[in-house]
Amino acid sequence: MSIGTGIEWTDATFNPWTGCTKVSPGCKFCYAALFDSRHLHEKQSHWGPGARRMPASEAQWEQVAALNRRAEKRGTPLRVFCASMADVFESEAPVAQQKRLWETIAATPHLRWQLLTKRPERVLETIPEAWRVTPPPNVWYGTSVESADYLRRVAELQKVPAAVRFLSVEPLLGSIPLMPLDGIGWVILGGESGPHARPMEAEWAREIRDQVVRVGVPLFFKQWGQHNSKGRRMKSKKFKGYNRLDGKTWRQFPKEAS
Ligand code: SF4
Repeated sequence: MSIGTGIEWTDATFNPWTGCTKVSPGCKFCYAALFDSRHLHEKQSHWGPGARRMPASEAQWEQVAALNRRAEKRGTPLRVFCASMADVFESEAPVAQQKRLWETIAATPHLRWQLLTKRPERVLETIPEAWRVTPPPNVWYGTSVESADYLRRVAELQKVPAAVRFLSVEPLLGSIPLMPLDGIGWVILGGESGPHARPMEAEWAREIRDQVVRVGVPLFFKQWGQHNSKGRRMKSKKFKGYNRLDGKTWRQFPKEAS
């Protein structure tokens, strides 16, 4: 678990396991896969079909319980992004770790679990049966949409009963002129970082902002990424104005269903 993460739309990240398989162009420069290949824990890659997924340690699970106690003590919930180094809904997910994750979520009511996936079509068949009827109040389900080619993911997410449904439009790789926003409670928007980052055109970002603002959905504009609003490559992803869209910062969060 990582508390005080650099990901500004959450408070902590937790990975019940590490490892995944790339599924779409948004995965092309997956930071987690790159990190895994550089560090090669267990001297093997955890990416791709058939590769072993590396489970979290006991100490990491204990940190989740500690974070829940901390949130309870301070009287306001803490957000946990799950997972930054895996996709908890992939078909090769380790079943025991997945089951433990559901139990842990149920036992940590002071945390807000941000379950972000590129496989929303698998959510309903994967979550505990009871959650299909009564959604847990501390779970936010999200899906990534990098271009108009992946709008079917939004339709899948809209089928999931949830306290909050959100979209991660990051890295935005193309124009999305008609984003379906019914039942969506939050949108995160951003460009790509890293040595091979693809630029996000300013018009694509504005197009999303305008649609989201029109229907009153909270927006979190995370960053331009490695390219600024003019498409120029920058040395650092945190250059002046990296998180401003037409001069304005957008750091809104969803209203939770009561
Ligand atoms: S789904 Fe996420 S974790 Fe898995 S390869 Fe794609 S970007 Fe990486």
